Amino acid sequence: EIDKNLIQNSIRDVKDFPKEGVVFKDITTLLNNKEALQTLINHLEDRYKSYDLDYICGIDSRGFIFGSILADRLNVGFVPVRKKGKLPSTTVCEKYELEYGYDEVEIHLDAFPKKNPRVLLIDDLIATGGTAAAAAKLIKNVDANLIEACFILNLTFLNGVKKVKEHTPVYSVLDI
Ligand code: 5GP
Repeated sequence: EIDKNLIQNSIRDVKDFPKEGVVFKDITTLLNNKEALQTLINHLEDRYKSYDLDYICGIDSRGFIFGSILADRLNVGFVPVRKKGKLPSTTVCEKYELEYGYDEVEIHLDAFPKKNPRVLLIDDLIATGGTAAAAAKLIKNVDANLIEACFILNLTFLNGVKKVKEHTPVYSVLDI
């Protein structure tokens, strides 16, 4: 069993970022804490080693960090889902709603060279679930099998898991 207090205590609250009234969960203090980082990655490796995954798909940009470390541990490839305009080759795009306006995420059309791959989606945090739901649609639109979506932190009061569960099972390490 994972020491959830160790992980939770390593994440810092930053008030009024990126704007007034928001309390931002800062995971850089988890990343620079080798005990917390190793404990977390060991836990994820333990959970997913039996899933027979082909790729880890990480969401721009903190999902890249956890996703890459985990992909290396599980001996699978890593695939980025990026904010619009960052990927150089041919992409598939998905629009999603923000509090005010829209944003878009993209994946390379040929992101998964293997046919019918088994894919885990990962990000640091789920809030409204809009980003992860859009990423889940992208993965399916390029004919991959989305096995689960994984988050380090779930802000439960925003009910984002409900939105993502329409597309895939969801696992979160910490529910706060
Ligand atoms: P959602 O689409 O679920 O509303 O927002 C989740 C996305 O926004 C994730 O990609 C996540 O990295 C980012 N995000 C939103 N709020 C926070 C926060 O407080 N801390 C961190 N680290 N990321 C956040």
